[in-house]
Amino acid sequence: MSSSAVWRPFTQHALEPDPPAIARAEGAWLTDASGRKILDAISSWWVTTHGHRHPRIIAAIRETAESLDQVIFAGLTHEPAERLAAGLVEIAPAGLSHVFFSDSGSTAVEVALKMALGYFRNLGEARTRVAVLEGGYHGDTIGGMSVGERGVFNAAYAPLLFEVERVPFPGDGGEQAALDAIERAGSRGDLAALLVEPLVLGAGGMRIYTPATLARLAEAARAHGALLIADEVMTGWGRSGTLFACEQAGLSPDILCTSKGLTGGAIPLAATLATQAIFDAHWSSDRAKTFFHSSSYTANPIACAAALANLDVWREEPVRERITRLAEMQGERVSRVASDPRFRNVRRCGTIAAVDLHVSDPGYLADVGPRLRAFFLERGLLVRPLGDVIYLMPPYCITEAELDVLYDAIAEAADRFGAPR
Ligand SMILES: *Cc1c(COP(=O)(O)O)cnc(C)c1O
Repeated sequence: MSSSAVWRPFTQHALEPDPPAIARAEGAWLTDASGRKILDAISSWWVTTHGHRHPRIIAAIRETAESLDQVIFAGLTHEPAERLAAGLVEIAPAGLSHVFFSDSGSTAVEVALKMALGYFRNLGEARTRVAVLEGGYHGDTIGGMSVGERGVFNAAYAPLLFEVERVPFPGDGGEQAALDAIERAGSRGDLAALLVEPLVLGAGGMRIYTPATLARLAEAARAHGALLIADEVMTGWGRSGTLFACEQAGLSPDILCTSKGLTGGAIPLAATLATQAIFDAHWSSDRAKTFFHSSSYTANPIACAAALANLDVWREEPVRERITRLAEMQGERVSRVASDPRFRNVRRCGTIAAVDLHVSDPGYLADVGPRLRAFFLERGLLVRPLGDVIYLMPPYCITEAELDVLYDAIAEAADRFGAPR
């Protein structure tokens, strides 16, 4: 029995031991209260990009807190938000001209969905349906779950979720079926938007599809007058190899959601970027056409300052070189694993590498994730498999030697848990 009052996320308290209490974070490492070090191979749930406590980002937080805390963002503004919005528009795919701030990936997606529906309502067009990729994940709010994959994670709430059009995952061999599904959904004339995680379905198991396919999906949806919403909450800020994944497809979405790496992972903030046309559809002397959305902490000045510092880091440090280097290091190591019969679907996109571990007893499968997690943690490694999918998504500062430790542990995990094909 735990004495903690905390109810933890995605945690079955009846089955899982009390977690280590982390007292320090630095670079790729966490240190617990007893001084034990843990290598953060998943960037603390995909948020930490450069490394924990990047000095420049921490300094911006400290300095801004000397003069500002939360300030209401309706009717008032402040320099960190104004500068950040301008900075995001400058680096985002062309055509995204307006920035709406919120505080998490889920809210960034909710805002995107509301923008898309508001856009068509204000134009007087009856478009209210949304198409999504099967296996997608967009957060755990009611809207986020509605547009995400259905399953054990949200079965209890299914009666509250709205229906969407589901497009088969457009991976190898699945492209045409996906295009056909968009064609079917679009031909009814009521499709408001296609929502995608570009190039990588994160929580859906690090499943990868090509930039060329992404471009074709977008084209198919737009051919029917639908908007393209890119959920770059995970793929953004270099994760997929470029600043935003859409760049690889030469694509400018109509709406782009960003959060996790926006502040380098230091502090919560999210932004939903939209085109001039979407903003303009809400521009009216009729107050009923207002974009009715807010959250209490919209555009928190300290978080905005952290994100501005992150933009400076991208501008002034060799971040792209670090990403390329990490991508290469991941690529070399993951391809060595490719010939191991205990692994399937060896894959990589940018800095993300993943393998499926072949386990013999399917009954065992349900439990393999938590067991693997415990196995890695015993070795001082923070790795959090998605079922039998083992992936590494480390901060960009990780060294070659640290990465080797992780791949050695993955091989050891295969010895312990894997079965040959
Ligand atoms: C994590 C994630 C979200 C949800 O973000 P939160 O900050 O956890 O609400 C949404 N979309 C994608 C693609 C994500 O990976």
